[in-house]
Amino acid sequence: MRNFLTELGKRRLVADGAMGTMLFAKGLPQGWCPEEWVESHPEEVKAIHQAYFDAGSDIVLTNTFGGSPIKLANYGHADKAAAWNQCAAELAREVAGTDRFVAGSIGPTGHFLPPLGTMTEEEAYNGFTIQAMAMEAGGVDVIFVETMTAIEEIVLAVKAVKENTKLPVVATMTFEQKRKGYRTMMGVSPEMAVEKLQEAGADVVGTNCGTGPELTVGVLRAMRAVTDGYLAGQPNAGLPEIRDGKHIYPMTPEEMVEKMRPLLDLDVRIIGGCCGTNPEFIKRIAAMVKGA
Ligand SMILES: [Zn+2]
Repeated sequence: MRNFLTELGKRRLVADGAMGTMLFAKGLPQGWCPEEWVESHPEEVKAIHQAYFDAGSDIVLTNTFGGSPIKLANYGHADKAAAWNQCAAELAREVAGTDRFVAGSIGPTGHFLPPLGTMTEEEAYNGFTIQAMAMEAGGVDVIFVETMTAIEEIVLAVKAVKENTKLPVVATMTFEQKRKGYRTMMGVSPEMAVEKLQEAGADVVGTNCGTGPELTVGVLRAMRAVTDGYLAGQPNAGLPEIRDGKHIYPMTPEEMVEKMRPLLDLDVRIIGGCCGTNPEFIKRIAAMVKGA
């Protein structure tokens, strides 16, 4: 039986690329709830997972990024959280079989805790718990809490997973390059992220999304300076340009992979892509990781 952390102890694992971009390519209408597609378009969602495994991913992420009941409430679907998170996990599990990994994705709620907003800690924690428990029931191997910018919110998510499931947790935040160094939109430094996330029980820490591979390398170098623990990096394919109202990522898979190479020296254990990446990028990333 596969065990995520045991495998991670032996080798680097390749994650997948963007989900949203792939869903739009398959016809998801703008403004539609992406998580709803696990119920209405299961074959399309499974085909995306299959394309990433075919490209060389060891891990695929479930289509549950916005699956917290707080986020689903934007579409009037808060009551679907448990069912859709479990369904998404089952679809990915079906494609992964028994020798590849499924990661349950948990993204931000899109709301702020006080003093900036009115979401309570309890609401956030309970929402993440519903997601994590449903995905554990659906058969995921690990939870990826990702694209977070507020330390309080990601700590609540990590704790919700650790306290209510037996799953390991990969916790990644999204950073920007500021004058004083790397910070999330909410002012969190890489060093602070490592300290707080490990304290909350994260098994792997790191960064995803952002302005491209150089940023990811810089953030992970700062993280590596303060921890010997497992690290994860999933960059965007550079900075998007708006053309005809669409986000276009100008970086090619070749350029991206050249800039990601330093991740190997930093012993980053989970390497994948985020916005703007597709199976072509993952093919190159997998070749780099497996050739190392
Ligand atoms: Zn992204």
